[in-house]
Amino acid sequence: MKLVTFSDARGQRVGVISGEGVVDLSRADSDLPRDMIGLIAEWPRVRAVVERAASRAADAPLKSVKLRAPVPRPRKIMAIGLNYADHVAESGMKTPEQQIWFSKMPSAVTGPYDPIQLPKVSTALDYEVELVAVVGQGGRHIGKANAEDAVFGYCAGNDVTVRDWQFKTPQWVLGKSFDTHAPFGPWIVTTDEIGDPHTLGVRCFVNGEKRQDSNTKHLVFNVFDQIEELSKAMTLEPGDAIFTGTPGGVGAAMKPPAWLKAGDEVRCEIDRIGEIVNVVAPEGN
Ligand code: ZN
Repeated sequence: MKLVTFSDARGQRVGVISGEGVVDLSRADSDLPRDMIGLIAEWPRVRAVVERAASRAADAPLKSVKLRAPVPRPRKIMAIGLNYADHVAESGMKTPEQQIWFSKMPSAVTGPYDPIQLPKVSTALDYEVELVAVVGQGGRHIGKANAEDAVFGYCAGNDVTVRDWQFKTPQWVLGKSFDTHAPFGPWIVTTDEIGDPHTLGVRCFVNGEKRQDSNTKHLVFNVFDQIEELSKAMTLEPGDAIFTGTPGGVGAAMKPPAWLKAGDEVRCEIDRIGEIVNVVAPEGN
């Protein structure tokens, strides 16, 4: 199933994709949670109802609604650095022995087709296509053998980065957390439709030019390693988003660096999921 958060004149709701349209889950069953975190949290109880809804005719064509990030405000977003060998090499680093974690603030989330801001304070704006894992029931101390069951589904994401801010201090969080710099979506594809998440082609295009082209089989620490490690420290909660690392080809590694400019179109696509498309726009006043 493909689950969405969408909005129209009647407000924001959750839905499930049917053909080229969306089934409004608030219409399908008025008892269903109205937001994605609630839906994920209650998934064992509501799954069968949502599956039935997915087989109905759509209430509205996708083109007639606005897709939001599938989890518009996750309680946390964790992201791993230096997690594809070619990206490690282009960054001039050694393959890490430990997972390198940072967070992106939930306020950085934006929709799959919304603009990403070129900040007033920097021109070093960069893209990072990433597979995003969305946590299901969550928990603490989730062993690798159980990690697959801890994932609700997957999205395509862009770990948009302000490079000079990332590296002007040892902590990366500010450079990774500018408003609009965590677009993901366009939907959550549930794990049963993805199968093995470590066989997915991952690509990023800027104005149609392919910049990143890899496969999740090249992850240094795979998705399940990541969940095991994170949950040693923190309780993973329904709807938490995990950005699983970016392959080589980022703008910072080009000579000279190829920073994103106002008007650039960034398209991040992942096999069996789909694509998000975000245009760079100057930060407003
Ligand atoms: Zn990243």
